[in-house]
Parts: sequence; C-alpha cells; structure tokens
Amino acid sequence: MTWKTPLSTVCFLLFSLSAMAEPKFVDEPVTGKVMTLQILDVGQGDAIYIESPDGKRMLIDAGPQGAKNQIVEFLASKSITRLDAIMVTHGHADHVGKMLKVLNAVEVGQVISSGFFHPTGMNEDILAAMKNKSIPMKVVVAGDSFKLGEYLDFKVIYPEKDAGLPAISVNDTSLVVKLTYGDVSFMLTGDAEHFTEELVVKYRPKDLDADFLKAGHHGSETASGNPFLDAVTPKVALISCGENNKFSHPHKSTLDRFSERGIKMLRTDRDGTLTITTDGKKVRIETEKKVPVSALFFVVGKAA
Ligand SMILES: [Zn+2]
Repeated sequence: MTWKTPLSTVCFLLFSLSAMAEPKFVDEPVTGKVMTLQILDVGQGDAIYIESPDGKRMLIDAGPQGAKNQIVEFLASKSITRLDAIMVTHGHADHVGKMLKVLNAVEVGQVISSGFFHPTGMNEDILAAMKNKSIPMKVVVAGDSFKLGEYLDFKVIYPEKDAGLPAISVNDTSLVVKLTYGDVSFMLTGDAEHFTEELVVKYRPKDLDADFLKAGHHGSETASGNPFLDAVTPKVALISCGENNKFSHPHKSTLDRFSERGIKMLRTDRDGTLTITTDGKKVRIETEKKVPVSALFFVVGKAA
C-alpha cells in the first residue's frame, strides 16, 4: 500500500473542488437548511419574498398599487405576522404601492434602503407610518454587507456613497444587492438601468457574478445590457412584469440578449409566482403555472 496519490487523482480532486462552486439544479424537493426566494406574481411591479434557513423573513419591494392585494394575501396565506426586514429598492409606486398596507398588516423589524425616497405623497405616508410605528431605517451604500439570519449574506452593490442620487433618474437610485447562500447567488436590481449597470461594472466588477439575475426594470430594453450581462453571467433571468402591461415589458431585445447567452428566462406574467429553493448547493425552481421541467432543468455549467 502506498500513500502516493496519482497526479490524475489530484487533478480530479482540484477540478471537483472548483466545480463545487457551481450550484446543481435539481427537479426534486431540496431538504435540510433551505432558503426560499419567491418572485411574487403581483402584476406590473416587484415584490420578492425571502425566507432564510433559520426562519428569518424579508420582503424586497411591495408593489404595485391597485385593488388587488397579493402581498398581504400571500403573507396571510403563510400565517406570517412578522417580517424581519423590508428592503425598498426605490420609491416608485410599482415597488412601494402596497408598502403601507404591509406595514399595517404585519410587524416589521426594519426597513433597508438607500435612504433616498423621492418626494411623493405615497413615500411621505410610508415614512410617516414607519416613524409612527418606530420602525428603524437602515441606510446602506455600496460595499456594505448585511445578513438575514445566520446564513444569508447580502452585499450592497449600488449606489456608491455620495452618488448624488437625487440628480439622476429615480430608476437609477435603485438599491442593488447580491444575495449569496453557499454556492448560490442572486443579483437583485430593482429598476436599475444602463446608467447603474455601467457604474457597477466599473466600480464593483468582482462582486457581480451571480447565478440568478432579477432583470432590472421588468425586463426593459433600458436594462440588462451586454457589459452587465458579461459581468454577471447569470444562468437564469427572473423577470417580474404584468401580463399585457402597457410598457410591453419585457422587451424583445432584452429577451434576445438573454437567449443569445443561453440564459433561461422565467417571467411572472407567463409563469406566475416563481419559487426557488436551495440548500446552498442544490437548487430547485418551481413556477405557479408549471413550466415544463425540461425548460427548468439544468446540468451544471450549461443549460440542459
Ligand atoms: Zn418598476
């Protein structure tokens, strides 16, 4: 018996170790320490629900306006009475349209934002309600990190400190964060458009690689540009938009950019609520309207 390890074995082990950084897409329930991320089908707007393996809960955005109250109904259906955090990407009505209702429906631990809410009656009401309920605001800038529970790590990608936000378009005030759990990562962009994308490619190039991209601005042609996609290299694009919306989101040119790169696309307007569960290694994607498994199943590194 010898302890000498053949070079081929070493090479195999090294390859296996590097391959471990890639998530494995599966078509079976993921068990153990599982996080869930759901892009809720709320029509033309954004609302993302995240639950950590240790039971912490967070909402990213709470839009849009309108009679339907899918977010509060969703929280009630899961008997949720407390959110540990609501992150607001920006103050447009399709992202904060139901925030007041959520604040009135459940206990909220803190609100995370860039600190910039452009002046609208809706935003004034939200800030007043937060003050009234003594909900603290955590203001974050690029380079900051925060956690949800013990396992989920968020890194703030944008805006940079002293970015002079009020001088630029409201969409490009969107708080952009990357969520990482084990080998699985999500780039969450709000309505960030090319202006933001160019800045993050310039200032945060090493932080951009992610498996999932929540496509900026509902799949608009003004977001998900080539340099940004080259930096993020997502395997899956998640698009939150309303059926037959008046903006024609998502735009064909954006979908073309995704398909040219072999990026799988999931859309709330077509697929309903999108649910991703992962233990940090295995990933399962489910859709409310049951997209065929063949469209969702992945082999590591390349789409099946
Ligand atoms: Zn929007």
